[in-house]
Amino acid sequence: MIKVEIFSEDLADIKLVNEYWGQDEDGKFIVKTSNLLPFKDIKTLPKLLDYILSISKAWNDKYSCPSCGEPFLCTSRTDSQSSFKHHRDCKECEIRKKDALLQRKQKEQLLLQQRIATRIEHNAKIRYDYSKIPVHIKLLLIGLSKALTSSSISNGFKVDECTELAPTGKEIFAIIKKLIAEGVIIDSPSKANSNAYVLNDDKSLSYYYYYVTYVFVPDKAGTPISDTIRLLRQRRITPCDKIYQVWLDIATSDCMAYFEMQNSHHGLEIHEDDYQKINNLIRTSLEKYSMSEVWSIIWRIVRDAAALSTRSYYNKDKASKTLLGKLQRLLDLILKNEASTMPWNRSQGSSVSILSQFFYELFEIDEYTPAEQVKLIFSKKDQIEDFSETHSKSMYILQQAVEYNIEKDVLNSFADLIRKGETIDATLDFIMHNYSLG
Ligand SMILES: [Zn+2]
Repeated sequence: MIKVEIFSEDLADIKLVNEYWGQDEDGKFIVKTSNLLPFKDIKTLPKLLDYILSISKAWNDKYSCPSCGEPFLCTSRTDSQSSFKHHRDCKECEIRKKDALLQRKQKEQLLLQQRIATRIEHNAKIRYDYSKIPVHIKLLLIGLSKALTSSSISNGFKVDECTELAPTGKEIFAIIKKLIAEGVIIDSPSKANSNAYVLNDDKSLSYYYYYVTYVFVPDKAGTPISDTIRLLRQRRITPCDKIYQVWLDIATSDCMAYFEMQNSHHGLEIHEDDYQKINNLIRTSLEKYSMSEVWSIIWRIVRDAAALSTRSYYNKDKASKTLLGKLQRLLDLILKNEASTMPWNRSQGSSVSILSQFFYELFEIDEYTPAEQVKLIFSKKDQIEDFSETHSKSMYILQQAVEYNIEKDVLNSFADLIRKGETIDATLDFIMHNYSLG
C-alpha cells in the first residue's frame, strides 16, 4: 500500500498527489496519468512527476530496507511497484556498509604490513649450520643452486626460476617444501610483491609458494652464501638410503612426466583420485625396473587406453579412468613373467632435469641403469657410511675416556653390554649418554 505525505496546503496540489498515487483494492492505479494533465501550467508527464515529488513524498510500506527497516521513497508509479528493492539496502545503508568495508580493508592492510614487517625482522635473524646439513638436503640444495644464476643465489629467486630442477612442477614444489622444512631456504618478504602475502582467518600470515621470493638461509658461521654453496659442491656426497629415496622421487617424477606427455598425445588424463596411487605404483616399480623399462610399461597402458577411447561405447574420460587398473594388471603380469619389459628411449622433447643429470654425474645412474644396480650403488656405500659413523663414534669415546681417565670403566661397560647382546651402535650410544661424553 502506498502512503503519502504532502507538504503543500494548496487543495489542487493535495488532490493531484492523491490522484497520482491513488490505488484500488487490487493495487491498481485509479486515475490514468494522462488524465492529470494539464495541471496548472504543466503540460508534460515528466514535469508533472517532478512537481509531485517536490511537494510530497510517497512510500510503499511493502518494501523497506532490509538493514535499517526504513521504507523506500517512491520516485514514480513504476518505482513504487519494483520488487527488486526487497533485497537491496537503502542508499544510506549502502554507503554505511561500503565505508565499513573500506575501513576493515584498510585495517587488514595495515595489519598485513605489520605482520610482514615482523616476518622480515624474524627471518633476517635465522641462520643455518651448513656443517651439519643432511646429505640428501645437500644434494637437493646443490641441484637447486645449479638451476639458478649466481645473482639469484645471492639475491633470491622464485619457484618459476627452477623449472629445470626436476622433471615435473609437482616434484619441484615438493623439493622447495622440503628445503623450507629443513630451514635452508626461506621466504624473503622484503623482496617479494606484497600480493604474495595474505592474512589467514586467524590473522596469521601466510604466503603463496609461487609468488614469494626465496633466499638461501645465511650460514651460522657467517660465510657468504655463494661461498657456502661453492664449499658444499666441493664436499663429497656419500650414497646412502636417503639419497636413494631422492633418486626414487626424481625417477618417479621423470616417469610421471613421461606418463603425462603420452596421455596428452591421446587426450587422456590421469584421474585426480588415481594420481597418487599411480605415482606410488611407479615408485615401487622403480625398485624393480629401470626408468626406461617403466617408460615402456607406461607407453603400453596409455596405448591400450587410447585404443579403448576410440570405441563407440567409450570416451576419453572413461578410458582415462582405466589407466590405474591397466597399470596394476600389467605390473602383475610382468611379475608373473607373463609379460615382459623392454628398455625405452627418452621421448623427444623431454629434457633431462638438473637433478637427473646430477645423479648421472655423481653415480653414473641414468634411465638405462638396472634397478638392482641402482640399489647396489646406494646400499654398498650405506655400509661404509655406517661403518665410518660407528668408527668415528668409538674413536671419540676412546679419546674422551683417556682424557677423563675412565677408559677401564668404559671398556668394562662396553664388554658387559655386548655380552648382554646389545649392538655395537646401541652400546656406543649408551656409553656416550651414561658417561656424559656426548
Ligand atoms: Zn537502510
